[in-house]
Amino acid sequence: MARNASPTDDGTDVLPRIARKAASHVLVWYDVNRRVLPWRAASGEKPDPYHVWLSEIMLQQTTVATVGPYFADFVRRWPTVSDLAAAELDDVLHAWQGLGYYARARNLHKCAGIVASQMGGRFPEDEKALKGLPGIGDYTSAAIAAIAFGKGATPVDGNVERVMARLFAVKEPLPGSKPRLRSLAAGLTPAKRAGDYAQALMDLGATVCRPRNPSCDLCPLEGLCRARREGTAARLPARTPRKPQPKRYGVAFWMTNDDGAVFIRRREEKGLLGGMMEFPSTPWRAEEWMVDEAASYAPTPDPGKSGWRILPGSVRHVFTHFDLELQVVAGVCAKGAKRMDGAVWCPVSGLGDHAFPTVMKKIAALAKSLEVD
Ligand code: SF4
Repeated sequence: MARNASPTDDGTDVLPRIARKAASHVLVWYDVNRRVLPWRAASGEKPDPYHVWLSEIMLQQTTVATVGPYFADFVRRWPTVSDLAAAELDDVLHAWQGLGYYARARNLHKCAGIVASQMGGRFPEDEKALKGLPGIGDYTSAAIAAIAFGKGATPVDGNVERVMARLFAVKEPLPGSKPRLRSLAAGLTPAKRAGDYAQALMDLGATVCRPRNPSCDLCPLEGLCRARREGTAARLPARTPRKPQPKRYGVAFWMTNDDGAVFIRRREEKGLLGGMMEFPSTPWRAEEWMVDEAASYAPTPDPGKSGWRILPGSVRHVFTHFDLELQVVAGVCAKGAKRMDGAVWCPVSGLGDHAFPTVMKKIAALAKSLEVD
C-alpha cells in the first residue's frame, strides 16, 4: 500500500526555513566565486539590458563556451539594440551560423526592431511585457527581468532544476516535476539582489552542482541539502525515459557543374530551417527512398553519363521531433539545372559564405571528404 505523503515530501514545509538561509549562503558564495562572463556586469556595475537579452537568447541553445565569441562578434558589429535592428537580416543569420535554430536569429532581429522603433531602444523591465516580444518566453523574460532590472523574477533552467531537485530531494521525475521545481525555486528567491541570486544559482548548477559528480564539499548549500544527506544527489533529478524519436529519410543531391561549383538553393521562409540555404533533396518521410524514385526530385533531368552516384555513408541529424537520415547522391550537371527559386551555383570554397544549417554542413563535409566533383 502506498505510504501517505508526509508534509516534508514536497519541500513546502521546510521552504521558509531553507529559503532564508539558502539565499544568503548562495549570495555569499557568489560574491567570491562568480564567473566572469563577457555579458555579465562586474560587481557593483549596472548590467546592460541589451547584453543580457542578447546573451540569454544565444544561451537558449548552447553553452557559455560556445556563445562567448558569438557574443563578442555581435556587440562589435552591432553595439546597441538599434544597430542590430538596422542590420540586414541576412547578415544577422550569417553571424548566427553555428548557434542553432535560425528561427531564433530571425526573432532576435524582429525583437530588436520592435525595441528600437517602438520602445525608444529600451527593453521593458517586467516579465509580462518582455514575454510579449518575439523570441522571449518564460525563462528568458524572468532572466532579463531579474538580471538586467533586479526584479524578483525566478528564471529556472536545467541547472536550477537540478539544484532544486537535489536540495529538496524531489523524487518525481522530470518533466512532470517542473512545476514543483519552479515553485520551490521561486520560494527561495530573495527580495533583494534577485539578479545576483538568479546568476548565482546558474553558476552553482554549472560549476558545483553538476549533473555528474557534484562537488558537494564546495557547495554553499551543503548543510541544507537533503539529497546530500540522503546520498541520492547523483541520481537526481530523475527523468522519465524518452520515447524513441520517429525516423525520417531523404535523398540529398550534391550537384556540381563543369566549373566545380555546387548547386544550392534557399529553403522556403516558413517551416523547418526556414530561409536557410540547402542542397536540394527529396521530401523527408517515414519510408526509405529508392534512388530511382528520388531522381524525380533532382535539380537536373540529366546528371551526365555517370548518372547519380550514391556516396558511401549517410548523413544523420537529430531534430527536436525526429531523427533524419539522408543518403547523398552526386552528379555533374550536363544540361542545366531546373529553374528553382532562390537557387545559385556556388564554388565549393565559397560555401562558408552562406547560412547553412548544421544538417547541410554535414552533407558538404561528406561530399568534400570524398573529394566529389
Ligand atoms: Fe548539489 Fe551537493 Fe550542493 Fe546538494 S550539496 S545542492 S547535491 S552540490
